[in-house]
Amino acid sequence: MKQTILVCDRCPAPKPFAVTTLVLSNGRRGQNLAVDVCKKHEAEIKRCFLETRKRGVSPLRGRHSKYTNLDEKIMAFVERMKEAAPTPCSKAIKVPRHAVQKAFLDLAAAGKLVRSGKGRQATYRKA
Ligand SMILES: [Zn+2]
Repeated sequence: MKQTILVCDRCPAPKPFAVTTLVLSNGRRGQNLAVDVCKKHEAEIKRCFLETRKRGVSPLRGRHSKYTNLDEKIMAFVERMKEAAPTPCSKAIKVPRHAVQKAFLDLAAAGKLVRSGKGRQATYRKA
């Protein structure tokens, strides 16, 4: 009896038995890449795909951890200026404008800031 035993393509020798064959397809026939992998490498490869997908779901998640004390910095800036707009504030505290803009809106929604004016001309003061 002839038997084919697959070993992991990604492990250095001595190679463990592969538990699965993963096929990378570009949607065309005959150009697929197949790799035989052990359990450890299967998990590793699958994690790459899952992480890429997860990153696209919620770009705003983690804003508070990325820019520490953003809300406090904005409140301090508004207090100092009496009335402030997001753009000069973003330059003053060195945080990207889109993040500052979002934080201003959050603070206004939370009732900590009062907005006057609309769109790009909007200014905020302490509630
Ligand atoms: Zn392996």
